[in-house]
Amino acid sequence: MRLQFLGAAETTSGSCYLLNFAEHNVLIDCGLFQGPEELKQRNYGDFPFEPEEIDAVILTHAHIDHSGLLPKLVKWGFNGSIFTTGVTVDLCEIMLADSGYIQETEVERKNRKLSRRGKKLLEPIYTVQDARESMKHFRRMIYDEEVSILPGLRVRFRDAGHILGAAIVELWVTENEETTKIVFSGDLGNLNQPIVQDPTFITAADILVIESTYGTRLHEERDTRFEYLAEMVNKTMQRGGNLLIPAFALGRTQDLLYSLRILQDEGKIPPLTIYIDSPLASAATEVFMRHSSTFDYKTRSMLAEGRSPFASPGVHYTETVEESMRLNQVRGGLVIIAGSGMADAGRIKHHLKHNLWRKETGVLLVGYQAQGTLGRRLQDGAEEVRIHGEPVKVKADVQTITGFSAHGDQAALLNWLRRFNHIGRVFVTHGEKESCHGFAELISEKLKVPAIVPKLDEIFEFNGSKTFSTWEKDYDDLYIEEEFSGVIQVMKDKEIKFRGSYGLAERKYAIKNTFYTLFNLGLGREFFAQLALECLVERGELIRDDVGDYNLEPIWEEKLASLTNKPPWETVYDEIISPAELNQTAYYYLDQLPAAAAIGYTRTRSKESVENIYAILGSGLAPQLFSTVHDLTRLWSTLGEGQLIKPENLEKFLDIYAKRDLGEDYYQIEGSAPGVRFMLGGSFKQATSIVVLSNGEDGVTSVINQLNQLSFSGR
Ligand SMILES: [Zn+2]
Ligand SMILES: [Zn+2]
Repeated sequence: MRLQFLGAAETTSGSCYLLNFAEHNVLIDCGLFQGPEELKQRNYGDFPFEPEEIDAVILTHAHIDHSGLLPKLVKWGFNGSIFTTGVTVDLCEIMLADSGYIQETEVERKNRKLSRRGKKLLEPIYTVQDARESMKHFRRMIYDEEVSILPGLRVRFRDAGHILGAAIVELWVTENEETTKIVFSGDLGNLNQPIVQDPTFITAADILVIESTYGTRLHEERDTRFEYLAEMVNKTMQRGGNLLIPAFALGRTQDLLYSLRILQDEGKIPPLTIYIDSPLASAATEVFMRHSSTFDYKTRSMLAEGRSPFASPGVHYTETVEESMRLNQVRGGLVIIAGSGMADAGRIKHHLKHNLWRKETGVLLVGYQAQGTLGRRLQDGAEEVRIHGEPVKVKADVQTITGFSAHGDQAALLNWLRRFNHIGRVFVTHGEKESCHGFAELISEKLKVPAIVPKLDEIFEFNGSKTFSTWEKDYDDLYIEEEFSGVIQVMKDKEIKFRGSYGLAERKYAIKNTFYTLFNLGLGREFFAQLALECLVERGELIRDDVGDYNLEPIWEEKLASLTNKPPWETVYDEIISPAELNQTAYYYLDQLPAAAAIGYTRTRSKESVENIYAILGSGLAPQLFSTVHDLTRLWSTLGEGQLIKPENLEKFLDIYAKRDLGEDYYQIEGSAPGVRFMLGGSFKQATSIVVLSNGEDGVTSVINQLNQLSFSGR
């Protein structure tokens, strides 16, 4: 039995786990990656598995970071069933269609730019229609009932208390007449959260996969949260302003309605006129009302007493744009809850534009505000912001309430873990790097259970009582010098055999090197120029004699430029980067590096390590070529599949890079510049590739030699 971590590994989004047993393949969640651009790239292109070979999907809940790639999975050939709770099916119906709509409009906007520049157009990851199509695969399950869904696989959904319909998943997997119990926590809720039940306690797991969003933090007390909310409402209403609350459509909006209802019933705030100005939030609330039997006791009693938080005289749901626009004329006395949660899209932006400049207005931020969003700028106290291209002065009272989270904090997670009588081993996922590792340490210390933080794409094999990562098996002996700074990846037969990231991409702010860090390839750019030349020769656009025999001299970019009369990077983009879909590879000027780029560090004669961003090569102030381990691995496999140049020409083309001492078809391409080194090597016959990227000069040679030896010696 094997379990591969295809998402939410050292990050919070893209939840997706692939379970193989007895020739069956099952996915647990298939979520969208969100956040930094490098991570979002994973939403595009191939899945790291064949969709038609997946027998079933088990879905924990409707949040997009867990469900968001299901329409793509179906579009790309998945033909099995998606098992989840009935509420989640109904919520996915609206959430996935909305996500499809967002993909369509985003790509439309990007394509307008691309077509102006004459570039190849993008396709949306999936459309509204794809989302609708995927709904046919959903199967409704109920909480607490054990069901056999495949030979050798039984499943039981338990209430996770996170959002309505969210489940903890218990799996019993039978292979070779031995049954292993695996528990996926999904996203775990807080105790005493509005509307939803408390998370169900589970008592046994041989393998537990647990989330760690707040693995190292504690929430604000619930009572203070209510107090702040009441205070903010009262202050704003007394000033005669409107209270604007940007909120996520699913979960947060309903929690707010609930909290406002309780405060009104207790007489702590006046009767309110509340507008839910978000079609998605209205639709989600409607699903909530259809499933009121899954509410917690307190909310069900409120309904029984005729005190529904969602349907009371003061609560209005706007439908049309006209209705929404009419609200702009009302100067005070309204509570407007609208998306998006970070105020960077949706109808809330219009309301902010019409209200922010008035000092009576109140703005309440109740969720996480990511860097770069309008919500974050307001939170940070901006005096003026731009909305729809217009400058708007901020005179409103802007406040933040934390603690409206649908995730249990460290105390809640530990409390849930303590109810287990038996845990064999824990995998900690769904948290930022610090949270995962911090929480894993805490588990090992407090519960005396081995806790592992899996890396993205890492595979674990379970064999009786033995558990091991398939990555480390061959590379146990690898010794990485402490000074080594960079990223390594070894791939064999389309499977990652080893991956590691070490040191810092940026030392001043202590930004770690990761799988997504961009590295300067230095003179490795010459190889890209040669490859582009070879493509042009093959297509007959250049004559071989004009190009001449390849060698290791750094003259090839210039040659490419003079033979094509174009800057070399334009040809490399058209011939290599675009057709091989190296989405993370690009040329950048050194004073315009993206945030994900590693800074090169070099040593002075006195052995001091210094930043070297001005690693100017012979070509002067030309942009430098940056890439990631992911893209270089992809380039290697694309070459091996004969997609860039013809297979019969490959050997001859790569001849100058051959390293015969390691094998008759081993090639190694290297590049460096002051403070950076890069190596791409491997054997096509053995379907093996090695990538080493470094933003320092120490320990690189040793790493390359060891990886070559561990991968190729004695074969
Ligand atoms: Zn969630
Ligand atoms: Zn999540």
